[in-house]
Amino acid sequence: MGSLADSAGFSSTHVVVFPFMSKGHTIPLLQLSHLLLRRGATVTIFTTPANRPFISASVSGTTASIITLPFPKNIDGIPEGVENTDKLPSMSLFVPFATATKLMKPQFENALATLQNVTFMITDAFLGWTLDSASKFGIPRLATYGFSGFSTAVNRSVIMSRVLFDPNVVSDDELFQLPDFPWIKVTRNDFDSPFMDREPTGPLFEFVKEQVIATGNCHGLIVNSFYELEPKFIDYLNRECKPKAWSLGPLCLAEQSKSTSEKPPWVKWLDDKLENEGRSVLYVAFGSQVELSAEQLHEIKIGLEKSGVCFLWVVGKNGKYVETEFEGRVKDRGLVVREWVDQKEILKHESVKGFLSHCGWNSVLESLCAKVPILGWPMMAEQPLNVRMVVEEIKVGLRVETCDGTVRGFVKWEGLAKTVRELMEGEMGKAVRRKVEEIGDSAAKAMEEGGSSWRALNRLIEDIHAFRSKEFV
Ligand code: UDP
Repeated sequence: MGSLADSAGFSSTHVVVFPFMSKGHTIPLLQLSHLLLRRGATVTIFTTPANRPFISASVSGTTASIITLPFPKNIDGIPEGVENTDKLPSMSLFVPFATATKLMKPQFENALATLQNVTFMITDAFLGWTLDSASKFGIPRLATYGFSGFSTAVNRSVIMSRVLFDPNVVSDDELFQLPDFPWIKVTRNDFDSPFMDREPTGPLFEFVKEQVIATGNCHGLIVNSFYELEPKFIDYLNRECKPKAWSLGPLCLAEQSKSTSEKPPWVKWLDDKLENEGRSVLYVAFGSQVELSAEQLHEIKIGLEKSGVCFLWVVGKNGKYVETEFEGRVKDRGLVVREWVDQKEILKHESVKGFLSHCGWNSVLESLCAKVPILGWPMMAEQPLNVRMVVEEIKVGLRVETCDGTVRGFVKWEGLAKTVRELMEGEMGKAVRRKVEEIGDSAAKAMEEGGSSWRALNRLIEDIHAFRSKEFV
């Protein structure tokens, strides 16, 4: 990344990083830690015992320190030893799990008291309680949701305009216009319950409200994006909302894949498809949390089989419904992987020409950076908004066809096979492929020395030092 001159003051910067215990939240903060370390900052990362090995593996060979705090015990519904949302028996336990983290506050503060010269902390927005600890120690806190500027801005816009509660919008699948962004149309079903309800209530709503208020009161918001990708939305956040939003990404470009002596079997399989058969491959993965029904998985299997394309499917939590018999049937052109993979490495492989994805924001960014067009199939959280962005705003992907045309509709094999073929072989696929190449180039430029995200990180460090020096005047 070129010369690392330190006019911004990285070498006198000590950053405390506390990721939330979900892979999709932890990974970008580890990538940001790599970036800060490379620029010369000191980094201390907080985690829990069961999450430590993943974090240690990521930062091994760097000067990052790791502090382990015990995860709270005897939480109703949370089995002993579960310290990450990907191990929760059901995502319906998210609120008790996330709320339990508050019990870590005394140990967090004891550990903070032992640290020297902390300049600022970056903690996940779901750890809103860390704002109070930060204030006690006089440390500025920056938060991150790990969302795009687009979904953050659209969420804010629908709340402030109360457009979700318009009585003229009768059906949850009816498109309506956003007052702040009149060219964007969404449906109520683009938002999870209870946020799409007329009178949102309940534990998830209360939890999110508390985190949003804490974020509003902290020193800054880190957005894993780059200005050129979504200037209207980043400008909106900085014009309409507190705190200031800093676009420092795509953070997936900040960490190089670790080279291993032996290629994993799925990479060898990709090599073979490319070198011996000259075939393109569709990568299929739905992130670390999505749980699909047996019926939906049945349609995916038939759809992939009938599409005729080569595919590499990382099944994650859904492996139990993907039988070895299916693997046997498709073995000439399909590979099912049950292990944790290096997704960035797969996306960068020359044979991979499409990504069937739930559009978690990290997956979207990784696909853009690898210049791979996306077939978007949103499942939960802000994924429906990410798919709107991918398909309608930045035009780097297509949407999977649901049987009733709705955002959350069931996907039958015919709709899947048709859209897979369109992405891999059709005219619409060609158009989004051209666009993703362009965006992939601008993502790389943003992260290079002198690029927009590079400059934003410099300004952030300068801003924090200036802020802290005022405290002593
Ligand atoms: N990931 C990975 N290997 C796997 C599964 C997931 O490296 O086997 C990574 C993926 O590259 C991404 C993250 O896990 O960085 C998932 O984040 P995303 O926002 O895409 O989805 P989530 O899991 O939060 O739904």
